[in-house]
Amino acid sequence: MAETLFSKIINREIPADIVYEDDLSLAFKDIHPQAPVHLLIIPKKRIATINDIAEDDRELVGHLFWVAGKLARDMGFDDEGYRAVMNCNEQAGQSVFHIHLHLLAGKPLGWPPYTDHPKQA
Ligand code: 5GP
Repeated sequence: MAETLFSKIINREIPADIVYEDDLSLAFKDIHPQAPVHLLIIPKKRIATINDIAEDDRELVGHLFWVAGKLARDMGFDDEGYRAVMNCNEQAGQSVFHIHLHLLAGKPLGWPPYTDHPKQA
């Protein structure tokens, strides 16, 4: 399975603004933030898409949500509200094939996120 740039961020081969790390996961600022807070929470194990999450990965994926809640509490936007979302494959706009939770906060977030895919807009 080919590595992605997120493996390079995990291995410190390319820089990122890392805000949290533990033995299972890493969280860093998105390079093109879509909200005042836009973090990416990734497992250190490479899983390409939601479709590739194995039974054995269930605890790891749950861990990513635990990190999201911890960061929200630590950064003080837990009560105000936020979004934790994961895109899967092209129609959802996935561009990096190493699963990642987008953690967005700091402004009112519209729903649905897109009326049309940006490529069609
Ligand atoms: P996706 O579109 O796959 O759901 O999300 C990929 C995210 O990775 C995008 O929001 C994009 O801005 C972010 N991204 C792409 N390249 C880099 C990079 O080199 N560094 C960081 N920090 N974020 C990146």
